Amino acid sequence: MTAVHEIAEYADELLLSKITPDFPNALNGLQLENRSGITGIASAVDFSTRAITEAIAKSANLLLVHHGMFWEGSKHLTGPSYNKLRLLLENDIAVYSSHLPLDRHPTLGNNVLLARQLGLEAGGSFARFEGISIGVSGESDIETAVLAERARSFAKTFDGELRTTPFEKTRRTKRWAICSGAGASTETLTEAGEMKIDTLIVGEGPHWTAVHAEENDLTILYAGHYATETLGVRALADHLGERFALPSFFVNAPTGL
Ligand SMILES: [Zn+2]
Repeated sequence: MTAVHEIAEYADELLLSKITPDFPNALNGLQLENRSGITGIASAVDFSTRAITEAIAKSANLLLVHHGMFWEGSKHLTGPSYNKLRLLLENDIAVYSSHLPLDRHPTLGNNVLLARQLGLEAGGSFARFEGISIGVSGESDIETAVLAERARSFAKTFDGELRTTPFEKTRRTKRWAICSGAGASTETLTEAGEMKIDTLIVGEGPHWTAVHAEENDLTILYAGHYATETLGVRALADHLGERFALPSFFVNAPTGL
């Protein structure tokens, strides 16, 4: 049976986990080891009680997540935090987390897969962060309303709603960029302006980004933080499942956001 360290080492290399900059709480890589060999892989967007419970129910002992165990920062191991740790240890489940390394991966990444999901071909990068790019961009000639409809039905699959800034019915998307999750920020909007992006697709963003968009001839499609980050962990779990001949599945635990 494959030890978790072997899978984690392979994933670290595949995703460039150790050399990719990230927010400190992301703590990419193997976050919790286990003792027995891995028999099944569960993937989920968030490290949550729902994800752990389902992993246990389906006998997976490796949980892959995008937002890991330490996402909220240091906190007391009481209440739900204690309970999650207890469930993991009692059931000998390991946890591996990948945030920006997974967002930006050229084949398994949230951003490249979201582009494909929406029928877009990624040709360039987007969303610079500490010397790397996390997102993707490209050219197209598609009615923005058609693109929005695709994003709407994608969001619905994960119990989410698409929100868009107001745009004319005849508007066409010619230069687009994607940054999953909390992808609308001061930095990405500045970059979108520099790149003359007309349509920005993100998970979510603060209210002011919509005001900025309208005044800068930009349409923003907010497709949901959760929905836009479901693709990477699923693809990673399937890839590792195939590579190590293990069953893998995705735990859908929508957050409503
Ligand atoms: Zn996120």
